[in-house]
Amino acid sequence: MYSSLPVLRPFPRFCLLEGMTPIQRLVSLEKALGERCAIFVKRDDLMGIGGGGNKLRKLEFLIGQAKSEGKDTLITVGARQSNHARLTAASAAVAGLGAELVLARLVPKTDDDYLFNGNPLLDGLFGATVHDLPGDADTLAFAQQRAEALGGRALVIPAGGSSAIGMLGYAGAAAEIAQQEVALGRRFDKVLLANGSHGTQAGLVAGFKAQGLGGKVLGYTVLAPLAEAKAQTLAKAREVGALLGIEVDEADIAINGEHRGPGYGIETDEMKAALKLMAQTQGLLLDPVYSGKAFAGMLAGIRAGQFDGQSLLFVMTGGTPGLYAYRQALGG
Ligand SMILES: *Cc1c(COP(=O)(O)O)cnc(C)c1O
Repeated sequence: MYSSLPVLRPFPRFCLLEGMTPIQRLVSLEKALGERCAIFVKRDDLMGIGGGGNKLRKLEFLIGQAKSEGKDTLITVGARQSNHARLTAASAAVAGLGAELVLARLVPKTDDDYLFNGNPLLDGLFGATVHDLPGDADTLAFAQQRAEALGGRALVIPAGGSSAIGMLGYAGAAAEIAQQEVALGRRFDKVLLANGSHGTQAGLVAGFKAQGLGGKVLGYTVLAPLAEAKAQTLAKAREVGALLGIEVDEADIAINGEHRGPGYGIETDEMKAALKLMAQTQGLLLDPVYSGKAFAGMLAGIRAGQFDGQSLLFVMTGGTPGLYAYRQALGG
């Protein structure tokens, strides 16, 4: 079932996906936008475990690493509504590992929906231990202390699962997309996505470049300011590139910084409009923190003529439990 770059084969991998995720054309949305370009989505929200989402591709390799190193627990960090933390909890459950989530109240929201519904509700259902820390806490230092207390039995996974090993999951996704391009008889001019902890974009950039298909990935930063997002994504693409045996340059990293709004996890009007347009033309769900803002960026680009005549592939990265955390913002 695995579509894979041959260079990924030596890395231990724990299967969490059922095979390739589908690519689907958004015909109704194309019509609503005046048919200026072809719009496809890569359904990385459509995965069988834990509600699905991009972090499962990274967790396949991270759990492979944990098991090969004899670990029995995963510890990771994130915001209160972290999708990565929720999927770490779900994958740990299926892999027979313990999970500890070190979550900080990074986003200035204190309503019950934000603090307790959506992802944190599911973290508990999946049996994870949650450490609830204030917004300014050093979550990684806390995670490392917990790992020491467990006597070296835990793998500490950085934010978003974006270690070099974790990012291999998206190098693999680039190979999967290239294979699907052949089957569809179409090369995508752009592959667009949200950039948070940078690993999804970095993995895709390195994975496409390893196949001689560079220059098509465009990220929309939703977390770091633009300059920092560019520098970090380049550093991460180099880390995963080193595992693949390729070099990544500054010119390989394209990021748009105009759609983050006031900050990470804070809603914008254009994000809300993008969520509604997608739901009401295609019956598909974006999320308020990542894919909603990136999709708003793509829509703005389409309307401004930036992509006229092109074939676009937007990566739907999941995160729909976040919708329930943003009930007030979304008018529910
Ligand atoms: C984490 C996440 C992203 C961003 O991926 P990174 O690798 O952290 O940049 C995008 N969408 C959703 C729904 C996510 O949870």
